[in-house]
Amino acid sequence: MKKILLLILITLTVNSCSQKTEKDRSQQMKSSQGRQASKFQSVPVPQFDGKSAFNYLVRQVDFGPRAPNSDAHHQCLLYLEQELSLYADSVQLQKFDVPGYDGTVLRLTNIIAHFNLKSPTRILLTAHWDSRPRADHQPGGAVDKPIPGADDGASGVAILLEMARGFKQSPPPVGVDIILWDGEDYGKEGDMNYYCLGAKYWAATKPFSYQPLFAVNLDMVGQKDLQIPKEGYSVEYAPDVVKLIWDTAENMGVTQFVDRTSEPIYDDHLQLDNVGIKAVDLIDFDYKYWHTLEDTPDKCSPESLSAIGRVLLQVIYRSLRTYPYYGYER
Ligand SMILES: [Zn+2]
Repeated sequence: MKKILLLILITLTVNSCSQKTEKDRSQQMKSSQGRQASKFQSVPVPQFDGKSAFNYLVRQVDFGPRAPNSDAHHQCLLYLEQELSLYADSVQLQKFDVPGYDGTVLRLTNIIAHFNLKSPTRILLTAHWDSRPRADHQPGGAVDKPIPGADDGASGVAILLEMARGFKQSPPPVGVDIILWDGEDYGKEGDMNYYCLGAKYWAATKPFSYQPLFAVNLDMVGQKDLQIPKEGYSVEYAPDVVKLIWDTAENMGVTQFVDRTSEPIYDDHLQLDNVGIKAVDLIDFDYKYWHTLEDTPDKCSPESLSAIGRVLLQVIYRSLRTYPYYGYER
């Protein structure tokens, strides 16, 4: 009888302890959620100026085609480093040499910028800044001529530069890293070993401890009548990030994000998936001037750049706190 009573007492004590712990835990969670919510709400979402972003696009194209090893490539690198240095906490250049075709040595550089370095929660935003050295799809053929790369290259970088300008005005509530890849569009058609050279190099040398919540890659995001479908690999490897972005766009009434899954596209985001970073590729691959000499700024629009930029800012400054894995890494 005594034994039984003792057992009951112990059970009651353990139960009340565990209830207390549960209660504490739920209170802690509530207050942490409250802190997170207020952290997000207290930071204003920066304005995204489509015209300013469009100027960044034109500025890049004005250097000439940014094909690896060209003078325009070198001049544009200096410009992008200088521009990002105005806004970021720090900017690093990751320089590397890669063998190209016919014995060429490609001198490439990834441009890496950090914002809100103190935050352990990080989002990675990327785009390629090089442009293609050959216009394989030019009607009549212009295989040896480099493309202007207004949409295919400059558009993604332009959006990230305009976002960077916003990060300076209103620092993001989480850490953001921007990487501008070099050598994305060097490969001859079908020769995947020579595509995504910058993203491959970075992924192979990535610090083990660097683990952003997810990454978003921008490629061909500037054309007029922009329509961004859910790219196949993104849906496969990062469905929750796709949902976060598309839900945000829908809530904002941004119609450039369409509810349709496209074929998978081999792009820089896949190199991130390969090293365990969930990555979404925002890309409108349905572009008449793709890999032609006609890929010029007049085919692009400030409204398209703005649609992408505004949604991504809203994700980072507001809807990120609803992302299921937000806060997990701490
Ligand atoms: Zn391309």
